[in-house]
Order: sequence, then C-alpha cells, then structure tokens
Amino acid sequence: MLGFLAAGGACVGSFLNVVAYRLPRRCMSVSKPRSRCPKCTSLIGWRDNIPVVSWLLLRGRCRSCASPISARYPAVELATAALFVALAHLLPLAPAALIEPAKHAGEWITYLAAATITSALIALTLIDWDWQILPDPITKGGMLLGPLLLLVAPGLQPATGWLNTVKVAGVPLIESIGIRGVVALHGVLGEVVAGGSLWIIGVLGSKAFGREAMGFGDVKMLAAMGGVLGLWALLALGVAALVGAVVGIAMKGVGRGRYVPFGPFLALGMWTVMLRGEPMLDAWLGLYRF
Ligand SMILES: [Zn+2]
Repeated sequence: MLGFLAAGGACVGSFLNVVAYRLPRRCMSVSKPRSRCPKCTSLIGWRDNIPVVSWLLLRGRCRSCASPISARYPAVELATAALFVALAHLLPLAPAALIEPAKHAGEWITYLAAATITSALIALTLIDWDWQILPDPITKGGMLLGPLLLLVAPGLQPATGWLNTVKVAGVPLIESIGIRGVVALHGVLGEVVAGGSLWIIGVLGSKAFGREAMGFGDVKMLAAMGGVLGLWALLALGVAALVGAVVGIAMKGVGRGRYVPFGPFLALGMWTVMLRGEPMLDAWLGLYRF
C-alpha cells in the first residue's frame, strides 16, 4: 500500500509543479494547454512526463533541445510521495484499507482530506518561495473548504476538550449539532481569531517599522489554517514564527541574504499541528513545569 500511496504522491507532486509554475502566471490555465519545454516549446510526451523516472532517464535534459530541466521537479515529486507515505503512518491509514476500502471509508476520507491539505501546503510553499505571494485561489479557497472538510473528516482537527462543555441556551452544543458541527464551528472561530490576530500583528508591525511588515497573503493563509485547526492555528503560528526566526538567522549567518517568505513556515506549522497538535502543545507547556 505504501508503494501505491508513493506513486500517487509522485503524480500529485508532478501536478503541483505545474500549479506552482502556472498559477502565478495568471495568463496560463492550470489544466490546459499540455506541458511544453519552456526553452524550445516542443510538447512533452507522456513517456517524458512520468514523475521522477523521466527526469532520470533524460538525465535532467529536454529531449528536443537538451536544455537542463531543474532538479526541483523530481525533488518536489519525491517530497510529495514521501509526505503521502508519512500521512498513512501519522493519521494512521491501516494497510488493509487498500484491500477493503469500503470497510475503511472513514479512514480514507480523512486520509484524502489530509492529502488535499498537504498538496495545497506544498503549492503555497513553492509559490511563496518563488514569487513572495500566496495566491487567493488557494488561501481563500481553503477558508471556504476548511470547515466543510471538517464536516466529513473531523479527525483533521486536534482534540479540544473544552468544546464538549460549551452550552447554548442550557443545551450542550455537542448534543444539538453533533461533534462534526462543533468541530466545523470551531474551524470558523479559528479563521476569525487566527486571521484577525495576524492581521492586527501586521498592522502594528507596519506602524512600528514604517513599512509593510507582513503581506495580507499570510493573513489569509493563517485564516485558512484556522478553518481546519480552529484555535490550534495559533500554535501553528507559534511553530512558524519560531522555526522561521531560527532559519532566518541561520541564513543571515551564512551570508545568504535572500528574503525568506513566511508561507513555507506557516505550512510546516499547519502540517505538524494538524497531525500532532496535542503532544506538541503538551511538550511546549511542559517547558514551563519544573
Ligand atoms: Zn526543449
């Protein structure tokens, strides 16, 4: 089953390469036309379009004009394959789910929802790295889709005990709208609180530094993250800020003065908190206990 998921992940990674190339170039559709070599514009046939394998067989060069093809393409395909395999371990998705999919429908729905989110995070990471933008179709689309995904896959959100005690007009909310409804509502709350807090931080930062401290794209991305994680998005923001600061300082240290966008770190925070939010929060709070 892991081979099956890896192959699927490599194909999705191949598609994400196309998305990352075409989505920021607004004149291009993601689905049409078929892929061409950007140098010589010759069409790329199916046998030269097999994830990872074709790049290796072509030794990283275009079949027609021999101009180099970036190693980033197979790297993204491999990374997506690895993350899709990791998801099966972390969720988890039982190995038997491939043989008897009907018996494991719930697991598959959660897996596919998590794989969709993972794919969106990879695309955002690539596009933010290249262009320092986080495109609206993904961030705003995520804000819309997040709470809806929770209705079918509530397991995407780390558990939040106090949600079970919320009462409306004396009736526990969980009894009136069910666990799925509660989790989805928490997602909407997360969008408002997480997006709102980052927006306020951005406004204050801009005032303090006299220039744009943070793009509005980051605000929309964190809001979309809140749509799935609820208030756990604030933990994801903490992870992003911490890892981002460490990497930013390290890159300054080695003298690579490139501007480091925040989106890839938000993506890392989202992925880790979605899959292991509770132990991460426990470990962090544990630092204050002695
Ligand atoms: Zn070519």
